[in-house]
Amino acid sequence: MPPELNIIQHFLHTLSMTQLLVLLFLTCCMRLTAADTTSYTAEFEALTHGKSYAEKCSILRDSIEKTSTNNLKNLSATRMYYRLIQAEKNNPAAGWAMQKLGRAYWQIGEFDSAFVYYSSASTFLVNQNVPLEVFDNYIYMGLLFVATKDYLKAEFYFRQASQYLGRIKPWRIQKHRTSVNYWNLAHVYTKLQHYGKASRYLTAAFSILTGIDSIPGHYLNTAHCLTNYYMGNLQTCLHHYDSAIYYYHTSIQLSRNKSDNYILSNALAQIGVPFNALHLYDSTILYCSESLSIAEVNGNHEYKPLALKQLAEAYSATHQYQKAFEYYKRFKITSDSINNYDRVIAGYIYQKAENEKIEIEARKNEAELRQKYTVIISSAIILSILIIAFILLNRYKIIQKLNRRLTESNTTKNKLFSIIAHDLRTPLSGMKNLSNLILENSDTVTQDEREKYLRSFSTTSANIMNLLDNLLHWSQIQTGRISYRPEHIPLHDILHLETDTLTPFADQKAVSIIVDVPNYSIFVDKYMISTAIRNILTNAIKYSKPKKSIHIHGVEEQKSVVLSIVDQGIGMSNEDMQNIFRIDHKVSRLGTSGERGTGIGLTLSKEFAEKNGGALWCESEVGKGSVFYIRLPKSDVDVRLVSNGKVKKQSQ
Ligand code: ADP
Repeated sequence: MPPELNIIQHFLHTLSMTQLLVLLFLTCCMRLTAADTTSYTAEFEALTHGKSYAEKCSILRDSIEKTSTNNLKNLSATRMYYRLIQAEKNNPAAGWAMQKLGRAYWQIGEFDSAFVYYSSASTFLVNQNVPLEVFDNYIYMGLLFVATKDYLKAEFYFRQASQYLGRIKPWRIQKHRTSVNYWNLAHVYTKLQHYGKASRYLTAAFSILTGIDSIPGHYLNTAHCLTNYYMGNLQTCLHHYDSAIYYYHTSIQLSRNKSDNYILSNALAQIGVPFNALHLYDSTILYCSESLSIAEVNGNHEYKPLALKQLAEAYSATHQYQKAFEYYKRFKITSDSINNYDRVIAGYIYQKAENEKIEIEARKNEAELRQKYTVIISSAIILSILIIAFILLNRYKIIQKLNRRLTESNTTKNKLFSIIAHDLRTPLSGMKNLSNLILENSDTVTQDEREKYLRSFSTTSANIMNLLDNLLHWSQIQTGRISYRPEHIPLHDILHLETDTLTPFADQKAVSIIVDVPNYSIFVDKYMISTAIRNILTNAIKYSKPKKSIHIHGVEEQKSVVLSIVDQGIGMSNEDMQNIFRIDHKVSRLGTSGERGTGIGLTLSKEFAEKNGGALWCESEVGKGSVFYIRLPKSDVDVRLVSNGKVKKQSQ
C-alpha cells in the first residue's frame, strides 16, 4: 500500500466524533465569516458620508474595481453600490452591479447567491442589449459551474456566451473575448477528458492572443495568465509534466506581475502535481506553501485541498511523516467541508440551471409556435387573396363574356332590323307598285304583260319566302329554340333530294351537277344538313357561269365524311371570304343571271354544320370558282333504305 494511503487511513481512524463536530462548526464559521462584512460597511459609510449621489457611486465603483484582492471588502462595497443603484429605477449600471455582486459572492464561496445575481444580471443585460456585458456574464456563470464541477452545465453557459461574440465591438475586444471563450471551453473539455478539443481551443486562444497587441495590458495579462494556466492543466492530464511546469510557471510569473492572487494561488497549487510526479518535492513544498499562505489572505479556498494534498504527498515522499500527516489532516478537513458545501450548492445551481434551461426551451418553443402561426396566418392571407383574385377574375371574365354576347346580340338585332327594313321592304314595295300599276291599267294590260308580271310576282315572293325561312331558322338557332334531332341516314338521300330540287334552276343556265360520292352513312339532323347543302348548291348554281359544271366529291376521314362542292363560277376575293359566314358583315352579290340573295344563307349553313358536330369552310379564287367543304359526322352503323321505307341498320 502506498505510504500516503496509510496516512489517510490512520488519519480517518484518529478522527473522533468531537473532531467531526468541530469540523462542521468550522465549515459554518467559514461561511459566516465570509458574510460578515460589517466593519467594511462602516468604513464605506464613513468614506461616502456627506457626498452627493454621483460621488458616492463613483467612490464605491472605484473601490469595487480596486479591492479585488480583498474579497470581503469587495463584497461590502458592491452591496452598498447595488443598494445605491437600486434607488434609481432601471439604472443601466444595475447590470454591472449585479454582475459584480455575483463575482463578490463567488469569491467568498457563496455560490448560491453568486448564481442568483449572475442570473438576474443576465436577464437585465439581455434586455439592455449589451452583447459584451451579456457575454461576460455568461462566462461568469459557466465558471460558477466549473467551480461546482458540473462541466456540462459550464459548457452550456460558455456556449451561450459564444452566441454574443459576433456582436461585440470593437474588433480587438471581440478577439480578446473569443480567446476568453476558447480557454474556458478548453478548461471544460480538459475536465471532461476531451483532450483533443481542449488542445485545439487553447492553441486557438494562444494564436488570437499573439495577434492582439492593442488591448489594455491588464486584460491581455490575465488572458495570458489563464491560457498558460489551463495549458498547464491540460499538459498535466496528458502526463507531459515538463511542459505542464513550463506553462504553470509562465502563468505564475504573469500573475505575480499583475498581482492577481487568485490565479497565483491556483497556479502555485496546481504546479505541485507535475513537480510531485517528477519527484521535485522541494519545489512542490515551496510553491504549494506559498499557495496556502495566499489563500489564507484572500479567502480563496478552492485550491487549498489540492495544495495541502500535494504538500502531504511531498512530505510523505521525503519521509517527513509527521508533517505529511498534518497536511493530510488539513487536506481532509478542507476537502470534506468544500465537498459537502459543493454538493449542496451544486444541487441548488443544478436546479436553477434546469429551470433556466426549461425557460429557454419554453421561450424557444414559444418563438417557434409564433413563427408557425405567422407562417399559417400569412399562408391563409395569401390563399384568401388568391381565392378572391380568382373569383374576381372569373367574375370579370363572365362580365366580359356577357358584354361580348350583349354586343353580339345588339349587332344581330340591328342586322335583323336592317334585313327586314331593306331586303323585305324593297321587294314588297316593288310588288305593291307593280300590282297598283296593273290595277290602274287593267283595261290596257295585255295577256303577255299580265303573264310577265305574274312571273315576276312569283319569283319575288319565292325570294321573300326563302329569306323569311332563313331568318326564322337563324333566329331559332340564336335563341336555342330549334331542336337538334340526329338520325342515321344515307348521304345519298340528302344529296339526291337537293340535286333533284335544284336541277331545274341549274338547267336554266345549262349548268350540270355531277355527284361523285359513295353513299356514306351519316349521323345528322336531316333537316339542318339538307338546308346547309341546299344553300351551298344554290350559291354554286347562282355564281356559276353558264354551261359549266358543279362537282360534288366526298372523302371518308376517321369519324367523319368531308363533302366538297366545286363550282367554276365567279369566285370570291379574300376579303369576301372573311365575311361570308358573319351575320354582321353582310356579303350579298347578284348571281350571274341577276339572281338576288339573302346574305345569311351561309351563316345559317355554318351554324347548322357546327350544331351537328361538323364544320363548314371554303376556298375560292376570283374568276376561277369556289370550293365549299362541309364535314359531317359519320354513322357507326350501316344504314340502308329497305323496300317498306323503314331504315334497317347494320353494324359496320
Ligand atoms: P346569298 O343569299 O346572298 O347568296 P349567302 O350567305 O348564301 O347569301 O352567300 C353570301 C355571299 O357569299 C354571296 O352573296 C356571295 O357573294 C358569296 N358566295 C357564296 N357562295 C359563292 C360561290 N359559290 N361563288 C362565289 N361567291 C359565293
